Amino acid sequence: MVPSQQLLLRAGMMRQSSSGIYSILPFGQRVLDKIENIIDEELENIGCQKLSLPNLLPSENWKKTGRWESTGQEMFKLKDRKGADFLLAPTHEEEITSLIAKEIQSYRQLPIRVYQVGRKFRDELRARSGLLRGKEFLMKDLYTFDVSEEEALKTYDDVVLAYRRIMKRFGIPYAVAEADTGNIGGTHSHEFHVLSKVGEDSLLSCASCGYTSNEERAIGIIPNIPTKAATKFHCSDIVPKWVESLDIIPRSTFKLRPKVQLGVMKMESQDETKASSCALVAVATAGDRSVNEIKVSKAIGKIEFASSIDDVRTLIANDSLDKITVCIDQSLYPGQSSLRAKDLDMKGLKDPMFEELKSIFSIENSICNLHVIYGDYHNCLPEDGCPHCFNNKGTIEPMKMTRAIEIGHTFMLGTKYSQPLGAMFVLEGTQNLEPMQMGCYGLGITRLLASIVEASHDQKGIIWPESVAPFRAVIVTSEDERCITAAESIYDIVQKALKTKSGVIIDDRLDVTLGFKMKDAELIGYPWMIIIGKGFLRTGNVEVQHRKTGEKWSLERPKILSFFEERQL
Ligand SMILES: [Zn+2]
Repeated sequence: MVPSQQLLLRAGMMRQSSSGIYSILPFGQRVLDKIENIIDEELENIGCQKLSLPNLLPSENWKKTGRWESTGQEMFKLKDRKGADFLLAPTHEEEITSLIAKEIQSYRQLPIRVYQVGRKFRDELRARSGLLRGKEFLMKDLYTFDVSEEEALKTYDDVVLAYRRIMKRFGIPYAVAEADTGNIGGTHSHEFHVLSKVGEDSLLSCASCGYTSNEERAIGIIPNIPTKAATKFHCSDIVPKWVESLDIIPRSTFKLRPKVQLGVMKMESQDETKASSCALVAVATAGDRSVNEIKVSKAIGKIEFASSIDDVRTLIANDSLDKITVCIDQSLYPGQSSLRAKDLDMKGLKDPMFEELKSIFSIENSICNLHVIYGDYHNCLPEDGCPHCFNNKGTIEPMKMTRAIEIGHTFMLGTKYSQPLGAMFVLEGTQNLEPMQMGCYGLGITRLLASIVEASHDQKGIIWPESVAPFRAVIVTSEDERCITAAESIYDIVQKALKTKSGVIIDDRLDVTLGFKMKDAELIGYPWMIIIGKGFLRTGNVEVQHRKTGEKWSLERPKILSFFEERQL
């Protein structure tokens, strides 16, 4: 169990209903409400309006965008009594776009920024880690509609800034990672992360310029000096020897040993009478590098990777293998710029290695095309150089790796949904119908709740940031009648000082000791604890403890008001 799951259960903030599905109890709900309020305030400030979309959706729009088929088994699909297809919403692009398509016709009605906080459903194969990965979860999703790409980019920047303000108000360490670089200038997809050891994502970041990227996509400049692992790698496998023998890897002074990962790319056959064909893909990296499958697939198409030669045979099955693509990774030519792709003619090649390879994969003699491409196909390692600093200053600034939990994602969608769902408008001064330029922006609310706990806890329990704590202060008393009476008047004083409605709570349970209540208060994680016990009976002073710093104060009663007035949010 991850700490957030353990602590939220122990502190009585949630209960498991079934695997990946939770009930949120009153204290947990208070935190969720506060998270939602912060988001509402910041989104309202940039002109967003809140609405509510259904969760039970008909399949029609999803069939139009192709996602009914492509989403796969993660989608909860169901039928109504008439046999019509429905789904439980995993996201709402289709629903909002078709709604806007019906309502908006003219440029005069744009821009529009609408969002909701609602439930989403995903049939996770392995729901785990409590609220970090569940089958049912709360999300804030914002959708924006603009008249042009330029306007949509302005909207995008507004939202990213609002997201930064939201994260700042939660008071926990976070990072914004570049997710994808667009072709209209500037990056327009970002991931928002909470830094935490238990995160499933790894971020690489540069302390010098602030560049941050998810390891999945990170670009890193490989230092010229290779590690021992890069040079010492030896592989008895036929394939690396063969790749080496082709003389397609630049001869560097370091003699880096190539390591090769194989995969198969299926190719759709246009002619149905012919057997479908496929390509053998070999990705060569230096010995200390692993292949980044996302990067390779992005460069040449969807590939199924194999862990052995037998796997390759299974993947090829009965298809005809008629192309070989060799991807040579930058780690094999560090410090050199990208090389040009080349095609080698294998016809009549009397290479004994190639003969062996042909027999391994029963390659037909007709194959003569070997395509070699060069590029970035590896996973970055910490200490790789920051690409921005390299491009701007020519220096290699080593990057650092941190674990993180992704809690938000911002995208420019362009016309991906507005086109198929007919969200069109009449352009100013024309009769032309144009598709709207869309953006979508998600924040996982239940995941945020758990991430805040991951980022802010100790052995004693949760340490809520003041902005989202279920209550900002707790008053714990001993069972002495005088303490209980004092607690009630101090409650009014603190309430007045903090100027927040129900910011304070009294723990006046009679069946547990003061010590037990104090332990509970630390587990629940109230920012402030006011103790009215033996010390109060002896001196008339109350003790105040700060959960985050462990600082303690002994206050005379008249000082309590000003103490908390100085500590308003
Ligand atoms: Zn940098």
